[in-house]
Amino acid sequence: MPEGPETHELADRLSTLLVDEVLTQARFIDPRLQRKRGLLEGKRVLAVEARGKALLTAVSSGWTLYTHSQLFGFWRLVDDVDALPDGARPRVLLVTARGAAALYAAPSISLWRTDELDAQPYLAKLGPDVLDPAVDAAGLLAHMDTPRFAGRTLAVLLLDQGFAAGMGNYLRSEVLYHARLSPYRILRDLTAAERRRLAKALLDVPRRAYRAKHGDILPPGKDYLARTRATFGFEVYEHKGDPCPRDGGTIVEERLAARRLYWCPACQH
Ligand SMILES: [Zn+2]
Repeated sequence: MPEGPETHELADRLSTLLVDEVLTQARFIDPRLQRKRGLLEGKRVLAVEARGKALLTAVSSGWTLYTHSQLFGFWRLVDDVDALPDGARPRVLLVTARGAAALYAAPSISLWRTDELDAQPYLAKLGPDVLDPAVDAAGLLAHMDTPRFAGRTLAVLLLDQGFAAGMGNYLRSEVLYHARLSPYRILRDLTAAERRRLAKALLDVPRRAYRAKHGDILPPGKDYLARTRATFGFEVYEHKGDPCPRDGGTIVEERLAARRLYWCPACQH
């Protein structure tokens, strides 16, 4: 499943194709959505943004298209609608003078009034988005004090979109490694310094991953990314049996919260 950095990078690519353009066509497989295509067709695209792993395409009619790719959904972007492959019918097709964007196999697609988007069930539950420029360490630390998080392990929390939106499975291993924390720790047992390390890693690691996908072209409003390293490679994720880059300890693989997790028991406590 794409994680926050991939979703934000996709939002930027979709923005290039769609924003400020009029939708000459909007098509859906779902007949209920297809009947509402007039809310999009002939309307100007105002913004495409990522929130957690959802994509929001807002148009000038006051409506927003919500899509979530879940496990198998993927977008294809082309300069010309005729360049889309024959056969497979996209669940969503958006066409402008600049090109076309087609979404395949995504189970979660709906239309919302833009001013009522906060009521969308997935968005309503999201915690701070680690890739949102407005989110900082102080905000994350305050959010960590939410009582329902206190008794849970970091392995579980770091996959919870209500704890930190945009997190995912590869980011979970890398964030814990950078924070030097064991996945078995319980949030309420962390010291103040450990909480600060966790908050910092929750921001730094996903932003570095996003930056690596972007190369040198940074979208407006995201210039904070210029301060992060230009390359991103996994230091522990899928490195089972390899030496830890920090201390030479052996990286182990475990199944925690039903997903693979990689960590170094020698330096993550
Ligand atoms: Zn280590």
